[in-house]
Amino acid sequence: MSVIVVGSMAFDAIETPFAKSNKIVGGAATYIAWSASNFTKPIQQISVVGGDFPQEELDMLEARGVQMEGVQRKKDKKSFFWSGKYHMDMNTRDTLETQLNVLEDFEPVVPASYQGADILMLGNLSPAVQLSVIEQLKEPPKLIVLDTMNFWMDTAMPELEKVLKEVDVLLVNDSEARQLSAQYSLVRAAREIMKMGPKFLVIKKGEHGALLFHGDHVFFAPALPLDEVFDPTGAGDTFAGGFVGYLDSTKDFSFEGMKSAIIIGSAIASFCVEKFGTTRLRELTKNTIDERVQQFVELVNFDIALV
Ligand code: AMP
Repeated sequence: MSVIVVGSMAFDAIETPFAKSNKIVGGAATYIAWSASNFTKPIQQISVVGGDFPQEELDMLEARGVQMEGVQRKKDKKSFFWSGKYHMDMNTRDTLETQLNVLEDFEPVVPASYQGADILMLGNLSPAVQLSVIEQLKEPPKLIVLDTMNFWMDTAMPELEKVLKEVDVLLVNDSEARQLSAQYSLVRAAREIMKMGPKFLVIKKGEHGALLFHGDHVFFAPALPLDEVFDPTGAGDTFAGGFVGYLDSTKDFSFEGMKSAIIIGSAIASFCVEKFGTTRLRELTKNTIDERVQQFVELVNFDIALV
């Protein structure tokens, strides 16, 4: 029982209409690991960091059951850096700067000890790197989940198309689903995207929840209405971490099983946005998570009398 997580471990600088962060620890795989490690162990991390990445962050994750054998450290190089600025609605953002640094020539190596994992979570990274990890696995995982973004659709579409053919589940946001499918209606977009490979598709809609598609089936998970969204960065990755971590603990990869997993993903993502970076995720306990999942249950539970 294990989950391989591939993705960036990085520094971010974030601006919202209400606050601004310095350079803080971020990266897709960092958020995924913090999140998934609440539900399953071990998490087997594949990434690359520069000499500037804090050892303390890696140590804290290791203490939670995140294995670092697949994380390369390039001592004389800088970590990936991303900065973004959120608009007033906090759902949309502009990328201000992307410095690939160590990611520029990253060649992932899957350690022998990672072989045999049940789930492969391909977090946001170049599709060529994602493909290389798939190709290095001797035994196909029971479930491959892919997260990607518009940046890769703009710059590496042919490679992304190859990865899509290999995955079971794709996680994207609504604008990415529209870009990928060239369809405005999300139902039509889902149909087109499932023809590209994934059997399951999750379309995240920020504060408007998430949709799960599979064949002709659709399920909707709301987002928890929050008083304040402080920093949405990493919410998508935190969602992905909760989704795969929970699925690894249940091993139910059916549509019904994934319905529960997107509720768990939504619940844990709702914590991520409450503070800058991974701060809030570090504070979570099982009880806090369980209470929040219960709030989701109450949010969507109703009786209705048909007349
Ligand atoms: P999210 O808000 O869930 O989309 O994820 C934000 C995280 O993705 C940040 O912590 C960034 O470091 C990371 N990120 C942004 N752009 C890229 C990229 N092109 N490749 C890999 N990671 C990225």
